[in-house]
Amino acid sequence: MAELLRLAIQKSGRLFEGTQALLKECDIEFSAGKSSLKSRAFDFPVEFYFLRDDDIPTYVADGVADAGIVGLNALKESGAEVTIADPLGFGRCRLSLAVPKGVAYTEVASLAGKRIATSHPRILRDFLKDKGVGAHIHELAGSVEIAPSIGLAEAVCDLVSTGSTLASNGLIEVETVLLSEAVLITRKNLPTAQQGILDQLIFRARAVRKARHNKYIMLNAPTDALDRIIALIPGATSPSIMPLAKKGWSSLHSVVSDHDFWEVIGSLKAAGAEGILVLPIEKMIA
Ligand code: ATP
Ligand code: ZN
Repeated sequence: MAELLRLAIQKSGRLFEGTQALLKECDIEFSAGKSSLKSRAFDFPVEFYFLRDDDIPTYVADGVADAGIVGLNALKESGAEVTIADPLGFGRCRLSLAVPKGVAYTEVASLAGKRIATSHPRILRDFLKDKGVGAHIHELAGSVEIAPSIGLAEAVCDLVSTGSTLASNGLIEVETVLLSEAVLITRKNLPTAQQGILDQLIFRARAVRKARHNKYIMLNAPTDALDRIIALIPGATSPSIMPLAKKGWSSLHSVVSDHDFWEVIGSLKAAGAEGILVLPIEKMIA
């Protein structure tokens, strides 16, 4: 049987969509029935294991799976000994301390002696220890944000992305404990064949990630304005210039980061650029 990389991903939940989207852009597709535990990718030597996110780090550390995609928060909380192969740029959130509106809070020491509800006791314990603050950690599996309103705790340490869940529970974020995103993890001492597959996966994921942040830009300009325009959008290596049928005019093709594009668009027009087209890039390999 050909070698496979066993890749553990979240069965359903906040990471599933981002994981599936990234894999699809990497041209790695699979079908996942609601009840299936495993699935083979079409056209790529990966077998997916569909698991609860909390279990992924341990499965990888134990070698039941070769690699996995999991939030950095879940990885740190597990304490599992694995290697982080690559950050993946989705599932961004932060683990934060929050207190009820109106409660006096100036610094972490304000929480001394208080009860803090969290589903991340290990990370919180390390954080409090580091700050030299003694508080009672009240571990909850979920719905951490309601703990203060039912009198279970005076503060929470919970995952936040927009902050709207905290706000609707009358809580105010006061401290960031950890910044998190989805990461690709691997077990230690991957056999050569699996390492080779993993390297291909990382190569594809990086090409996709880079492309997401860049756009292909095409514009027309008087040939004598090109130097000024190139200075504004230098491109990945050097822009391509093609003559237009209209005498004294050229077409310029280049790559621009989506951030830079909005910064320079005004200057491009002022420099004489016309007919500017901006297109998405599917993959970008340096
Ligand atoms: P499972 O059934 O797999 O245990 P879960 O309920 O523990 O799922 P989800 O709520 O799906 O987990 O969150 C999975 C991961 O998504 C989190 O560990 C975190 O890394 C990430 N995440 C991103 N934004 C948020 C958010 N606003 N709240 C919670 N998790 C978030
Ligand atoms: Zn979970």
